[in-house]
Amino acid sequence: MLSTIVYRSHLCDEVPVKKLEEMVVIANKVNELYDITGILLFNGTHFFQVLEGPEEAVRTIYGRICEDKRHHNVVELMRDYAPSRRFGNVGMELFDLRDFDKDSVLQSVLDKGTSKFQLTYDDRALQFLRTFVEAREKENYYEVPPADSWAFIADDNQMREGDSTLSASEDFCFTFQPIIDPFSQQIVSFEALMQGQDGRSAEDYLSNLPRENVYETDLKSKKLAFAQARKLDIQHLTLSINLLPMSLVMVPDAVEFLLTEIDAQGFVPEQIVVEFTESDTISRVDAFETAIKKLKAAGISLSIDGFGAGSAGLLLLTRFQPEKIKIDRHIINDVHKSGPKQAIILAIIKCCSSLEISVIAEGVEKPEEWMWLEAAGIYNFQGALFASPKLNGLPAVAWPEKN
Ligand code: C2E
Ligand code: MN
Repeated sequence: MLSTIVYRSHLCDEVPVKKLEEMVVIANKVNELYDITGILLFNGTHFFQVLEGPEEAVRTIYGRICEDKRHHNVVELMRDYAPSRRFGNVGMELFDLRDFDKDSVLQSVLDKGTSKFQLTYDDRALQFLRTFVEAREKENYYEVPPADSWAFIADDNQMREGDSTLSASEDFCFTFQPIIDPFSQQIVSFEALMQGQDGRSAEDYLSNLPRENVYETDLKSKKLAFAQARKLDIQHLTLSINLLPMSLVMVPDAVEFLLTEIDAQGFVPEQIVVEFTESDTISRVDAFETAIKKLKAAGISLSIDGFGAGSAGLLLLTRFQPEKIKIDRHIINDVHKSGPKQAIILAIIKCCSSLEISVIAEGVEKPEEWMWLEAAGIYNFQGALFASPKLNGLPAVAWPEKN
């Protein structure tokens, strides 16, 4: 099947521009072997390339391109299938946009087209091409420095062991993971994550309970979360807890229960954030909204967890606007390499800014993800790059320091 990959990248400073022609000649030998055609544009700083050919071949060549040390910040913009090649000439030539007149450059590029139909702008690949030629997306090209430009230095100031005997009579316990602001080197909040005693995840643990016990167990487990948090001496910080939306609906007096436990452990409601995962469908919207009102009236903040992954993301956001949203870690993963992820995250940031909702990136594992997200305007992070969850305790935080 004929497949297409479109990407852009940034020429490395130490590679002389006059070497490019030579590089392209070598690359074309490989392209020919793999039956790859397309077009390669260069604007003096960035490359833009359309690769077309058999699916496996395009994937192989793109894999090699990503490994090439002569350019960096390779961002995949599009991966798609097409009935025929747009640029079918053997030997991909380097098209230096600077050599052309501004008004005719786009037409000159399109004149390279070999499709028997006229190239049309209904075609996404060509839309990308036009956008690049006209330099219309440039403000969104965040240049991410190499991963090793930062070191992550563990700081065990916050590290603490809790009391594992607190959960002795339960078949679950809690881990704690910080949400941090790396630039001001501050811990924004600790999130209490439930875990089965056998190390199973909360989702797994809860889904194996008898149906009638799920919501009750979820809600009542928070008694232990608050008690452990007190042992950990974080009553001066914000504490985030997770709840299924229906746990607030199905358990009578759920909000009252939370308020009693918060008070019993020396916290105030203003310190507590309730995170809802959107994967759980809210079947009784009215009852859910009533519970939300009660939480808000008591001073508790709300957060939508795993935003963008579940079924109700945007619709849920039209119904109620929380203080925070946490972008799902599958969207965060490798964001520095993916055009679609970048576009989605930029849109979430814009939307949340209009709604005065603060944005947290969760599941950050790589320095490049963090650098891209920070450049895009996100300030709060959670993930293994900084600190993994610690059972019955607080982990050390690895703060970034410039190398
Ligand atoms: P979540 O609220 O999004 O919690 C973060 C999850 O991501 C945790 O998994 C954590 O261990 C994991 N994580 C943290 N940093 C990284 C990272 O850098 N990379 C990756 N891949 N994962 C990372 P965990 O503990 O297995 O929790 C899974 C989910 O279970 C939570 O996702 C939350 O939705 C739910 N959950 C946790 N505690 C409770 C609870 O008390 N009640 C309910 N209903 N759900 C809970
Ligand atoms: Mn959460």
